[in-house]
Order: sequence, then C-alpha cells, then structure tokens
Amino acid sequence: MARGVFFNVPLHGHVNATLPVVRELVNRGEEISYYLTDAFRPQVERAGARFHRYDSTLEKPGGIGMLPARMPAESRHVLPQVLEAVRAERPDYVLYDPMCLWGRMIAQLLGIPAIIFRPTMAMSGGPSSPYAAFLRSRMTQFAGAFEQAGKDLAALMQEYGLPPIDMRQMMSHAEALNLVCVPRAFQPGGDTFDERFVFVGPSIQPRGDAGDFPFAHLEGGPALYISLGTVFNNWPEFYRMCFAAFGGTPWRVVLATGHAVNAEQLGPIPDNFLVRPSVPQLEVLERTSVFVTHGGANSLMESFHYGVPVVVIPQMAEQPLNAMRVSELGVGLALEKEAVTVEQLRQSVDRVASEPAFREKVRTMQQEVRASGGYRRAVDALLEFRARR
Ligand code: UDP
Repeated sequence: MARGVFFNVPLHGHVNATLPVVRELVNRGEEISYYLTDAFRPQVERAGARFHRYDSTLEKPGGIGMLPARMPAESRHVLPQVLEAVRAERPDYVLYDPMCLWGRMIAQLLGIPAIIFRPTMAMSGGPSSPYAAFLRSRMTQFAGAFEQAGKDLAALMQEYGLPPIDMRQMMSHAEALNLVCVPRAFQPGGDTFDERFVFVGPSIQPRGDAGDFPFAHLEGGPALYISLGTVFNNWPEFYRMCFAAFGGTPWRVVLATGHAVNAEQLGPIPDNFLVRPSVPQLEVLERTSVFVTHGGANSLMESFHYGVPVVVIPQMAEQPLNAMRVSELGVGLALEKEAVTVEQLRQSVDRVASEPAFREKVRTMQQEVRASGGYRRAVDALLEFRARR
C-alpha cells in the first residue's frame, strides 16, 4: 500500500472525472488524500479519500474568468495553507490537475513523483499542433491578463526557489506520466504523443445524483438535452432561443441552466421543456437523442459514452478546440456563439438527429471511448508507474 495525494481546482469539470479514479485507488488499497475546497468535501469523502480543505480565490466573487491567468495568484494563496500538511503526510506520489500550478510546485518542492490527471485533451504536441496555435490565439486575445499573470508567475517561482517558467510552459507542462481523459482517437495528432501519455478516456460511474428527477419527461418523443456546463452558463438569451427553436415541437427537452440563471427570468417555459439548474447528466444522456452542449471535455466524452451526437456551441477555455474536433470527426456540428440563431439551432439539431452519418461516427467514437479504459486503466498505469519508481 502506498499513499497518494490529489490536488485540484474547485471546478466540477476538473473534479468529476477524478472521483472514480480515487475510488478505484482506494479499492486497490491505496491511501489517498484529496486537497479541495469545502464545497467538494461530500464527493471526496464518498469516493473514499481523506479530505483536506483549502480556501480558494477562485470561489470569491468575480468568477473564475481566464483560469490559467488566475493560477499564479491562486497558487500564492493556496501554497502556504497546504504545503506543510502535505510534507507531513510524506506521500509516495502526487496527482494533480494541469491547472493546479500549486500542486506542481509542491511536488517539485518536496521531490515527490508527480502525475498529471488531465480532464481535457493533452496540450503538448509540438509548435505546429492545433493546440499551440490555439494557445497563441488565446494569449493574444487575453494579452493583458497573461502578461500580468506571467510576471506574477515569475515572482512566485522565485519566492519558492524554483526554476522560472512562463505561462505557456505552465499550461503545456507534462510529467513522466500524464493520464488524459479523452481517447487517443479524439486527441488531435494523437499518434504524436509518446508513452508518457496514457489516453484513458472518461471515467463514467453512477454519481448517485438522480434523486427524484422526473425521467418520464423524456418519454413520448425524441429527447433533446441542452446544457452549457457548470461555469460559463449565464446566458439567458440563449435559453430563450432554445424555447423559440424547440417549444411546441415533438422534442422532449431537458434544459440545465446552471445556478446563475433563474428559470423565472426566462419567461414562459414551453410545455415540452423541463428546466432545472442542474440535472443528473449521465442518466439524462442515457435517454437522449441529441445533446446541445458548450463542448466541455467531460460533457463531450459522457455524450459519446452513451452514443449521443452533439451540437456544440463553445463558450470559453479549450471548448473551441473541442468543437473543431467534433466537426472534423463528424460526431456532431459546431456553431459559433456570436452568430447562433433560432433557425440554425433547430436545423442543426434536426440534421444531427436525422442524418445517419452522425450516428455512425458517434458509434465509432463510443467504441473508442469505452475501449480506452477509464478509471481502471488510469489506476493500472498509475500503479505501474509507482512500481517503476
Ligand atoms: N454536469 C451535471 N449536471 C448538469 C451540468 C453538468 O452533472 O446539469 C456535469 C457533467 O456531467 C460534467 C461536468 O458537470 O461531468 C461539466 O464538465 P464539462 O467539462 O463538460 O464542463 P465545465 O462545466 O467544466 O465547463
């Protein structure tokens, strides 16, 4: 038995996929401590890990904004809270989310073997990779924030006596083992990644969050699920466009708005819609024909796991890249946030639902997703890595 510590940012899209991995590690006799904010304590403890709290600037008013640019300041805030506790635990290995700069720093400071657990596509792949182009465009678009964060990052590394890195290196860093939550077939340039990258795909396990959700609503017609995820979802106009596009049609629609939008502010809700702040997404997808999504990596992988084609409207982060990949692979359609119309929404959903090519391509991706091994393969790779060390 060995002891591992998991470090993560307090965001569902970053935490969800880690929980089945934690559960599997614990089932195989590992002792896992998980460092997160209070909001995640119940899930972490249900997964069987020892919970350690920290206070995060990302949960303060102002939202998370451009996450990578927030991480130097967040790390300066979190490190002093957790460093000594981790040192005292004397862990054999560290697992951390790629956004979790402070996790990487702790592994370096304490000289502990580290593994990246990547909920999205991998970021390396050489200067000509689509990711490199995407990073360049993002860094230009948010130049001010990145410049400030870069200075903060340099100062932080110096304060802790660590070698300097820039923002690009922070975002594309790879460890000796990198567990990636998409199948290699979804990763652009998948074949160019070496043996340090294990494409384990999504880790799907019941989350016990269905409660008394009225699944009967999804019966009696084709089912459409709409969600912009848990972060960039405060877009009431879009939800009204969905009402206009699908209200009064045969579609049985479930719309998850997130917690920033109040259903009452959306006006009259069509009879064929069920509107909730949050829904048990896995169980809903199991019953869905088409998913209109922001294209978060978790949502896409969960959709493909259940063989559901998508209409992607990327909002932020790496979602535009995911949307590009969806189009390229023919597993759905991608629309532009700024240009989307009611008519386009309706037509895209109808096309994806009716043209057999989408379903066929999704079936192939479903096989890739299911064959990539999820949490079991992740834990196999991790334990092998630990044994080698
Ligand atoms: N999710 C959920 N219910 C909802 C909306 C989202 O359970 O109503 C889950 C979803 O299953 C996924 C995660 O929240 O695991 C969202 O992660 P993703 O990477 O798709 O997007 P993010 O929220 O990070 O933008």
